[in-house]
Amino acid sequence: MSPVRPRVKVVGRRLDPEHWRVRDFLTRTAQPHQWLEAGTPEADAVLGGLGLPASAIPVLLEQDGTVHTHVTVTSLVHAWQHDDAPKRSDYDVVIIGGGPAGLAAAVYAASDGLKTIVLERDVPGGQASHTSMIENFFGFPDGVGGAELARKAGRQAEKFGAEIMVLRGALGSRINDPNEQVDVLVEGDIELRASVVLAATGMEWRRLDLPRLNDLVGRGVYYGAGRSEAAQCGGDPVVVVGAGNSAGQAVMNLADAGARVTMLVRSDRLGKTMSHYLVTRIEHHPLIDVRLNTELTAVHSDGDRLFAVSFADQDMHPAEALFICIGGVPQTAWCPQEGVLTDAAGYILTGVDLDGRPEGWKLDRDPLPLETSRPGLFAAGDVRHGSTKRVGAAVGEGAMAAALFFQRLNELGVAV
Ligand SMILES: Cc1cc2nc3c(=O)[nH]c(=O)nc-3n(C[C@H](O)[C@H](O)[C@H](O)COP(=O)(O)OP(=O)(O)OC[C@H]3O[C@@H](n4cnc5c(N)ncnc54)[C@H](O)[C@@H]3O)c2cc1C
Repeated sequence: MSPVRPRVKVVGRRLDPEHWRVRDFLTRTAQPHQWLEAGTPEADAVLGGLGLPASAIPVLLEQDGTVHTHVTVTSLVHAWQHDDAPKRSDYDVVIIGGGPAGLAAAVYAASDGLKTIVLERDVPGGQASHTSMIENFFGFPDGVGGAELARKAGRQAEKFGAEIMVLRGALGSRINDPNEQVDVLVEGDIELRASVVLAATGMEWRRLDLPRLNDLVGRGVYYGAGRSEAAQCGGDPVVVVGAGNSAGQAVMNLADAGARVTMLVRSDRLGKTMSHYLVTRIEHHPLIDVRLNTELTAVHSDGDRLFAVSFADQDMHPAEALFICIGGVPQTAWCPQEGVLTDAAGYILTGVDLDGRPEGWKLDRDPLPLETSRPGLFAAGDVRHGSTKRVGAAVGEGAMAAALFFQRLNELGVAV
């Protein structure tokens, strides 16, 4: 992970999906930045001062004068990341997913001397990086930003010697007989061998299936809490779909930034899937209109950008932006083909939930807590069946998994 830089300036277009990705990346990695909308006098002055044409955007200007043109997330990671390839080909522990569970496991595994690497296909922080304020995390009475928490956890893991690879997803894996180590295939044509693997791949936003909707992503439609968008939406009418904590936080972020928010909730009350403190705030916020028993039925675009949505009796409800937070799908496509058992929804079964020794299990012991149906492959956090879907719970499971790794490593005779 790269260290935080002094505040950078970016010139880009708000409604260009590629430019939005850059803004989202900066927000979710807690990199202080000022966004200058292309075509405004301030943006023109920056480009003019650098002698750059408008076609060079997105342009990022660092305080030391370094200029990046045609910026993408990948180009920034390459420019800023110290290491973008693993240092070794075999590790005691390969952690897949750099959300709260994966980062916590990395801190504890590396601090106990295990050769540890975290593979993250996006940016560290996972779902938590989408929230501007986690208010119920242990030890932070005034709340903590998700991106800030992830950055600190990443730094802490690296301090103990863990490697953290950004934009390096796990594509697949297989368990080696007879040595029972796990080979992990990683983006960039990299293959790693691990004695122990932790699945900490959490969840990804569930997509909503409506005509034109997915063409407008980044052009007024956003999956998630829209952290990078909230500041741009002051005074605008916006719509949020969903009723979980992520939707609740999106609504609060937007309303606190001055947006007029309509919240579409499919069920008949808010408190079914949302924390009580959020429900109370939403119900008392003058800029939030909650519509219960209501589903989004259509989106309307003007050329390339969203301008209205339809729901219930509203045919053309004005919407400068639409945020969809309707829960997640567990991310397990990279898991070994050889029978990692999941529940019907795809969440990974571990420990006692496996109900004894699964078919093909060769060891003379039951699966350990957090161990999957494959020895040495553990799962922690939201991807795990029965997990609590909270940052604190994910961190706790990550820490617990790190302790369990030693039992498996002893069994394999790996000296640590
Ligand atoms: C908007 C929002 C607000 C929230 N607010 C709160 C809150 O206030 N309090 C609270 O307790 N909880 C909150 N939550 C829930 C909390 O963030 C999650 O429970 C927690 O992040 C789960 O952590 P995790 O590490 O298990 O999974 P995730 O956070 O989902 O992280 C998984 C990581 O794995 C990566 N990944 C997936 N597949 C691969 C792959 N193949 N290779 C490599 N990497 C991969 C993903 O990119 C991601 O970074 C919120 C969630 C959201 C979305």
